[in-house]
Amino acid sequence: MQLTSVLIKGGVIVTMDSRRRVFRDGAVLIDKGVISQVGKTVDVKPERRAEFEIDAKGKVVLPGLVDTHVHLAQALIRGSADDTSLIDWLQKFVWPLQGNFDAQDGKVSAELCMLEMIKSGTTTFLESLLHSRYGFDGIAEAVDRAGIRGFLAKTVMGLPGYGSEKSIMHPGMIENAETCLREVETYFKRWNGKADERIRVWYGARSLGGCTPELYAQIAEGARLLGTGVTMHLSEVQEDVRYTKNEFSKMPAEFMDEVGLVGPNVVFAHGVWLSESEWPILARKGAHVAHCPSSNMKLSSGIAKVPEMMQAGVNVGIGCDGGTSNNSYDMIREM
Ligand SMILES: [Zn+2]
Repeated sequence: MQLTSVLIKGGVIVTMDSRRRVFRDGAVLIDKGVISQVGKTVDVKPERRAEFEIDAKGKVVLPGLVDTHVHLAQALIRGSADDTSLIDWLQKFVWPLQGNFDAQDGKVSAELCMLEMIKSGTTTFLESLLHSRYGFDGIAEAVDRAGIRGFLAKTVMGLPGYGSEKSIMHPGMIENAETCLREVETYFKRWNGKADERIRVWYGARSLGGCTPELYAQIAEGARLLGTGVTMHLSEVQEDVRYTKNEFSKMPAEFMDEVGLVGPNVVFAHGVWLSESEWPILARKGAHVAHCPSSNMKLSSGIAKVPEMMQAGVNVGIGCDGGTSNNSYDMIREM
């Protein structure tokens, strides 16, 4: 249900507009879902009494937060994998658990995750890897009900490994490349732009070692044809760099660029081990990085060079990652 007018008054309004204005004892008037006035409480004057008023005294009012890297399925397995590093963490804990999920698990985990995001001020998220077994339709319906904005990336993979570690994936997590590509198109047609434009369907490319170069190129082409986005974990751990250097004599971002997967519609998660020579490639092509500090600390992945990356012109957002790599989906904590 959408109220026709809402007045939030008496709070500290952090506008995040081009002038970065902040109003103490400020107010926000929302008419039919659109902000119509922002300013000091005394200056914000609704034409008629607002249908709903919120007293924000002692509170900060700020725009919705955007979580640029989320795993909905991990809310349900929070706390199940501590004190380990990425590849072991995936192979011994996360993949066996997620590899036994069914559509009901996928739905309740997504609902729990979205509840936590909404409670802590997140209004938009990018889910990076939805396996078919989590039940895409049930999750999209949950996004619709929750009222949040969800960018849902369906996993696309072809190889059951990570980097040079071949065939390490739990059987329940393995998907077939052709089926993955077909499903992205199916879900795109069914859900993209639905729920008042709140749902978007993207490609979720598996990490390095999970797709052949040809499959990455197919993902890039598919996204171009559908006019949609792609997200992928990149250079999260040093193994990413070792893999592309050994197999393709290239750094990870150079390799992604060669297969056509660097562009303004691409969000790379982590980028911890992206080097100085790779930042200009992302900056020039307008690709984005989702920085996930808690996850990188918990899995001892490393420390991303965020100020330097931004100095080089790369657009960097923040992500909470997952319930097992962070144990929280709270963007305030992440900031
Ligand atoms: Zn992740």
